[in-house]
Amino acid sequence: MSYLARNYNRKKISFKYGKGSYLYSTDKIKYLDFVQGIAVNSLGHSHPKLIETIKKQSKKLWHVSNAFQIPEGEQLAKKLCTKTFADYVIFQNSGAEATEAAVKIARRYFYSIGKPNKNRILCIKNSFHGRTLAAIFASGSKKMTEGFGPKISGFDHFKFGNHISLKKKINKNTAAIMVETIMGEGGIKVIPDWCLKELRKLCNKKKILLILDEVQCGVGRSGDFFAFEKSRVKPDIVPIAKGIGGGFPIGAVLMNKKVASGMTAGSHGSTFGGNPLAMSVGNTVMDIVSRKKFLKNVKNVSKYFLESLNNLKRKYPNIIKEIRGKGLLIGIQLYKDPTNFIKKLMDYKLLTIRAAENVIRILPPLNVKKKEIDIALKIISKSCEDLK
Ligand SMILES: *Cc1c(COP(=O)(O)O)cnc(C)c1O
Repeated sequence: MSYLARNYNRKKISFKYGKGSYLYSTDKIKYLDFVQGIAVNSLGHSHPKLIETIKKQSKKLWHVSNAFQIPEGEQLAKKLCTKTFADYVIFQNSGAEATEAAVKIARRYFYSIGKPNKNRILCIKNSFHGRTLAAIFASGSKKMTEGFGPKISGFDHFKFGNHISLKKKINKNTAAIMVETIMGEGGIKVIPDWCLKELRKLCNKKKILLILDEVQCGVGRSGDFFAFEKSRVKPDIVPIAKGIGGGFPIGAVLMNKKVASGMTAGSHGSTFGGNPLAMSVGNTVMDIVSRKKFLKNVKNVSKYFLESLNNLKRKYPNIIKEIRGKGLLIGIQLYKDPTNFIKKLMDYKLLTIRAAENVIRILPPLNVKKKEIDIALKIISKSCEDLK
């Protein structure tokens, strides 16, 4: 008998500990973990530097109110801003909080310049921005919003890739376009760089803001620190979360100076957001991800992984429809529902997770080793052979 509510369909497996790319179950089976808490454990399980940081900081200070200075948060904000487009940061505790704060910042900016009616946010239909009330209505997904009315208004939607609809849906009340640079839950759909550039141009022309949700694809997951980096586009607001805490819950919104001007004292807050314990961990993750060789390794192993998966696709053209993704945010799209395939992978001790559009999502830690990818490739190949 479980006293946990039934809002998850959990697999009947639990884990005792983890190390790097591996998880060890309570029944003593070793799994290659290519879920990593859904792109959260960016440095794998039990990273020694993160353990050291937590140990040290936990003996000093866990939490103080944001009514006081928090030097650890100052440090992390500085690291994020010097590395990116951003001028300012607000810390939160989760992705949904970060995306909602992004919406608040966009609205507040137009309010502060005397245009309070510019408050609507244009999003992709069936995208994912989190599970809080506003975030589910931002996603525009029937499944996620069902039974949770009344509808939170203020969000409009266009279909992924439908540029005519996108342009049509912008009106005088639109404040911002908010999209995931790479749709994660939606099936690992990458917005190409040329498209990001056009999005930026469109926003400039219409004098609206561009919010790029990098909660899943940010912090090195794509092979660059941000997935939009190669396009050289500068967004106005970027929510991040999953990878930045390496397993510790942290959310953050990065923003430019212009929009930050609306966020005056008292306009937004969070009790837990930006606490010294979380910030210390975030600092350590940033230091490691910012090492020169770190993202180079992500790019190298990603190239190898994607090429090898495309070879498998050619070998099993009736099973694999498409290999999607960028960096270590990878999707194998099948022709059929992937439930059996995911189960088969798990029987062979490889953990993966599904996404929409019959996609198996593969999220290794960013410091994954090539030989671990080889093990995964063997398992995926064997599963194709078994299920063909
Ligand atoms: C996971 C995710 C969120 C929500 O993050 P939570 O921490 O679960 O609230 C928001 N946006 C994107 C793109 C995500 O992948």
